[in-house]
Amino acid sequence: MQPISAIGSYHAHVYYDPTRTRDVAERLRARVAERFPVQLGRWHDKLVGPHPLAMFQIAFDTAEFARLVPWLMLNREGLTILVHPNTANPRADHEVHALWLGAVLPLSAGYLPELIEDDEAETVRPNTAPTLQP
Ligand code: ZN
Repeated sequence: MQPISAIGSYHAHVYYDPTRTRDVAERLRARVAERFPVQLGRWHDKLVGPHPLAMFQIAFDTAEFARLVPWLMLNREGLTILVHPNTANPRADHEVHALWLGAVLPLSAGYLPELIEDDEAETVRPNTAPTLQP
């Protein structure tokens, strides 16, 4: 058993098809930036890490979870989104502790480390300037 204090932050990975749904992903990304203090990652049109489709990442603090995740539920426009906690065990974060909005996609999480040092835990550095209420 783990306490929720084991969660330092969260990621939401927004998956899209570079040829068919990148415009939907661009719209979602812009809407998130207008509404939430989060750290938006780069576009990955080519596969990266354990992810089976093109995606971009939204990193956010635990305090944003209760606003951002429900908003994504209502506004993902059919895109699949992986939401996972960031603890000291990246492999379990992806394989065991994740939640999915939309289809569950197969991850290649096997090579993710099972333990990282606390000081490696990701710090969220918001790079958005929200002006709208969610
Ligand atoms: Zn992640």
